[in-house]
Amino acid sequence: MIAVKTEEELAKMRVSGKIVGDTLRMIEPYVKPGVSTMELNSVIEEFIRSAGAIPSFKNYNGFPAASCISIDDVVVHGIPSLRVLKEGEIVSIDVGALKDGFHGDAARTFAVGRISDEKRKLVEVTKECFFEGIKQAREGARLGDISYAIQKHAEKHGYGVVREMVGHGIGRHLHEPPDVPNYGNAGSGPILKAGNCLAIEPMINLGTARITISSADGWTCRTKDGFASAHYENTVIVGKEGAEILTL
Ligand code: MG
Repeated sequence: MIAVKTEEELAKMRVSGKIVGDTLRMIEPYVKPGVSTMELNSVIEEFIRSAGAIPSFKNYNGFPAASCISIDDVVVHGIPSLRVLKEGEIVSIDVGALKDGFHGDAARTFAVGRISDEKRKLVEVTKECFFEGIKQAREGARLGDISYAIQKHAEKHGYGVVREMVGHGIGRHLHEPPDVPNYGNAGSGPILKAGNCLAIEPMINLGTARITISSADGWTCRTKDGFASAHYENTVIVGKEGAEILTL
C-alpha cells in the first residue's frame, strides 16, 4: 500500500513542488563554463530559503549541501565543490525543498555550453523516459507499468538503466515507500491510487548500467565505464486519469 494523501496534504505538496521547479528554472542560466558547482549550490540554497523553505538534502544522512550536482560520468549525488564546469560537459542538478512539512524533489540535466550530439541525445532520451513513465501513472495502474515504460524507452536506444538507485514515494519524508525502479515488469507491483505522491527519476547511462560509489566521500555515484549519465526527475501526484507534475 502506498500512502494516499489528503487534499490538504496535496495542496502543501504543490507548494513545495513549485519551489523546486522554480529553483531549477532559476539556476539554468547560471550553468555555464567557468562556474563552480559550489557557486551554483550557494545560489540554489539562497533561492530555496528566500522562498521560505528548507533545502531537503542539506544534512540528509549527512549530505553536506543543498543540491546534488553531478557532472558527466557522475550519475547522482555529486557533492558541490570548487570544481568548475567545462564546455561540453553535462551536469545534473537535483534539488529538494521542505515547506510546511512536505517535500518536493526534482532534477534536470543541463548542457554546459555546446555538447556532443551523443550527450544531447542521452539528455533528451532520459527526459523522454520520464514522460513515458508518467503516461502510466494513473489510478488502477501498477507501479511496474511505470518502471517498464522507462526501461523500455531507454533500452530501445541502447542505454544502460541504473539499478541500484531508484525513485521513491515522497511527502512528509523525502524518501517514502515505495521504491520506484526505472526497470521492471508491466503489470507487477502495487496498484496505484489517486493521491499517491511519487518522485520518478530515470538515471540513464550512455554505456553500462553499472555504477560505483566513491569510497572517498561515500556519496558520489559514477558509471563504472566512465561514460556519461543523465538524470531527470519530477515529483508527481497520481490522479484518476493521469498524473499531475508538481515540479515543472
Ligand atoms: Mg529523488
